[in-house]
Amino acid sequence: CGIVGYIGTEDAKEILLRGLEKLEYRGYDSAGIAVANDNGVHVFKEKGRIASLRDVVDTTVDGTVGIGHTRWATHGVPSKVNAHPHQSTTERYTLVHNGVIENYEQLKREHLTNVELKSDTDTEIIVQLVEKFTAEGKSIEDAFRHTLSLLKGSYAIALLDNEDTDTVYVGKNKSPLLIGVGDDVNVIASDAMAMLQVTNQFVEIMDEEIVIVTRESITIKTLDGTVMTREPYTAELDA
Ligand code: GLU
Repeated sequence: CGIVGYIGTEDAKEILLRGLEKLEYRGYDSAGIAVANDNGVHVFKEKGRIASLRDVVDTTVDGTVGIGHTRWATHGVPSKVNAHPHQSTTERYTLVHNGVIENYEQLKREHLTNVELKSDTDTEIIVQLVEKFTAEGKSIEDAFRHTLSLLKGSYAIALLDNEDTDTVYVGKNKSPLLIGVGDDVNVIASDAMAMLQVTNQFVEIMDEEIVIVTRESITIKTLDGTVMTREPYTAELDA
């Protein structure tokens, strides 16, 4: 399983799909991508191989921002509905997640009794919590940090907001995650290999950090909002 993300100037679809193919060695049962453009966020997902995902991706939907996922099901059977990306009820937020949320039942009971969940995954509660906390008045960044502070377990997460498609929100705890930096382009990957097609400059992300990723910048913060600075290293691998 793995995640990828792209925010730059080229069409994201093919870069995401190629990135997911580089992560196939990690094992998976389903795959999906979301691509954002001025008309919002468009989700394509499928059970099975990335070749099957390619068949359902609408090649007419262009966008220079996107996220992708290969799933290794832990909660909920392998299926199209349980495949990532997952969206919140209003579809404002779109999210991919690797890892396991151990307290998802408890979070559902405490915060989401009025929300009709669409999937059987532990993941969906994350995107629904972000929606709930922004609906209550928090900024998306505050809602994201607050949501992650409630989670027990492991996660590498990438989140899109269809009201601001020039930003990708990323979070990490105990699941691998790197940010690749380029010129007017930044990328997200579980393994540098997936995004060597774009850059070989990567920044390590630590547990319980979020990253606010735009084309021009990456801002790393702890869950309590402290800004962290870290230099990229050069990934020396065969693409
Ligand atoms: N726990 C999540 C699920 O079952 C994510 C699994 C993964 O890491 O791919 O959907």
